[in-house]
Amino acid sequence: MELYELNLSFLVEGLKAKKFSPLEVYESCKNRIEKCEKNIHALITRTEDFAKSQLNENNNGILAGVPTILKDNLCTKGIKTTAASKILGDWRPPYDATAWKDLREAGAVLMGKANMDEFAMGNTCGNSAYGATHNPNDISRVPGGSSGGSAAAVSAGYVPFSLGSDTGGSIRQPASFCGVYGLKPTYGMVSRYGLISYGSSLDQIGPFARTVRDLQLVMSVISQYDPMDSSCFRGKKFDFTHSEDVSVKGKKIALVKEFQDFKLDTPISDAMKKVQKILEDEGAIITEVSLPVVARYAVACYYALAMSEAHTNLERYDGIRLGYTVKDASGIKEMFERVRSYGFGSEVKSRIIAGTCLTEPSRCEEYYVAATKVRTLIAQEFTKAFEDVDFILQPVTPSLPQKIGENDDDEMKSYATDLYTLPVNLAGLPGLSFFTGYSGNLPVGLQLIGKRWSDPEILNTGIILERHLGTPKIANGGE
Ligand code: GLN
Repeated sequence: MELYELNLSFLVEGLKAKKFSPLEVYESCKNRIEKCEKNIHALITRTEDFAKSQLNENNNGILAGVPTILKDNLCTKGIKTTAASKILGDWRPPYDATAWKDLREAGAVLMGKANMDEFAMGNTCGNSAYGATHNPNDISRVPGGSSGGSAAAVSAGYVPFSLGSDTGGSIRQPASFCGVYGLKPTYGMVSRYGLISYGSSLDQIGPFARTVRDLQLVMSVISQYDPMDSSCFRGKKFDFTHSEDVSVKGKKIALVKEFQDFKLDTPISDAMKKVQKILEDEGAIITEVSLPVVARYAVACYYALAMSEAHTNLERYDGIRLGYTVKDASGIKEMFERVRSYGFGSEVKSRIIAGTCLTEPSRCEEYYVAATKVRTLIAQEFTKAFEDVDFILQPVTPSLPQKIGENDDDEMKSYATDLYTLPVNLAGLPGLSFFTGYSGNLPVGLQLIGKRWSDPEILNTGIILERHLGTPKIANGGE
């Protein structure tokens, strides 16, 4: 077995016991990246030299010498950070995102910045100014998005874990498409400081890894209170300690009544049945909840809010403060026009225009304000549902990953496929995307949702599911 194939927890144990050195791990991951990157294109910027320099830092933290990769919307001090947009040009942030600072202090070394949909808008990783990422299980297919590069990198064995961000599914959906685990933590569980904003009330940073235990390890490092993010949880630290002694006996796990009539690809509906049976055999009670507002309005509500927040957040890219600029404009208006016309891709532009319309004074009440009210109803619907049940089990997507380029011209259809992931962000809940097996060479993932701050319990349930369903294998990466 090659070192790059080791899952995070084994790697950490082996490094601690000095079975191999950080340099050997680094070389193994570097070779793996070298071998597969031409097929997958998971990275915008490779930072192996920086990783190597970190190996000399003599860190004794829990992740000392463990290679990692960050989605390219996480700020890294002095290292190019693009959000997959041309508008950031050659920008090098003057500070580290808190989640990266925490990993760095724990000893993780940075191998690269991962490709993504521009400003995290999309679900294929094809909306990147740096070209599309390919699914390492089948390179003719999309890896999902927007954190497609982070998911693909873990799936192909570049690194044992990575970070992404999830505004409406961007961790869970690529995790499912690439065959790894991904956690979208409760809103406020991980500091967003240094995460380039898309929809600030929805954005959340979270990990990808090849086992649930590995997610627990990463969460134990990045779920810290941070005074730099006012929405960050202030109470006592959550306990993500791994234990095999976990149970779902007597737990109520619900399916959503309104989703039962929606069409799913057969491997996904089969996986739903398989997982219900496993949970029942483990002593859980399978039941049903009704979420009519979620089923009917979540997609429209999410896109109205996400676009409204995005148009405000993206106002700062004006050619003056940071990133790409033009020097020969005749006036400020021409400069704005030229910078923003060239700098933003078409999906980002259309969302800025939509967000501007939705919040424009004469329409604001009818659209943006209405969407905030619907969001409250959605959150209330979940709160009520979780009075009776412990978790909700549902698909991540209605279909398996499509071919690259397929459906690209049908935005509405693409937005609608986010139905199962978006509501979780609207209500600020945690969601685990877990691996259930393969259909041919394509992985099939499902999702477990819990009430706010139940992230540790969701992961414990994930441990039981992984025991039955098996751990995903490293994808061949087009080799
Ligand atoms: N696909 C959704 C969107 O495009 C969610 C993306 C995300 O979670 N960043 O907005």
